[in-house]
Amino acid sequence: MTLFEKIIARQIPADIVYEDDHTIAFRDIHPQAPTHVLVVPRQVIPRLDLATEADVEVLGRCMLAVGIVAKKLGLSGYRVVINNGEEAGQTVFHLHLHILGGRRLTWPPG
Ligand code: AMP
Repeated sequence: MTLFEKIIARQIPADIVYEDDHTIAFRDIHPQAPTHVLVVPRQVIPRLDLATEADVEVLGRCMLAVGIVAKKLGLSGYRVVINNGEEAGQTVFHLHLHILGGRRLTWPPG
């Protein structure tokens, strides 16, 4: 079971800010910005490049959830990040979208 499945199953606590039939969103435990939320599909896809045609709806639901969460938290400008694979910094192998906001974000990212 991934760490995020345990959060979904309420086996470990999280500061949940939104959930629907397809996704759950909770605050990152090590925030990299004043607002740092993870949007996680209930269905486990270990990493973005393992998603298939069968996952199209869940991927779309994650994107829609980002907009809902951002609006709910009062974010206007924000960044959405997916770390795909260890070299990109992925540490939890259950697809998730980082929403980062509440401060000025530089580009390109480091
Ligand atoms: P990534 O490095 O892209 O795989 O992102 C995983 C994220 O999960 C990191 O930003 C961690 O800080 C975050 N994280 C790890 N454990 C928890 C937890 N128990 N609750 C909330 N966020 C977590």
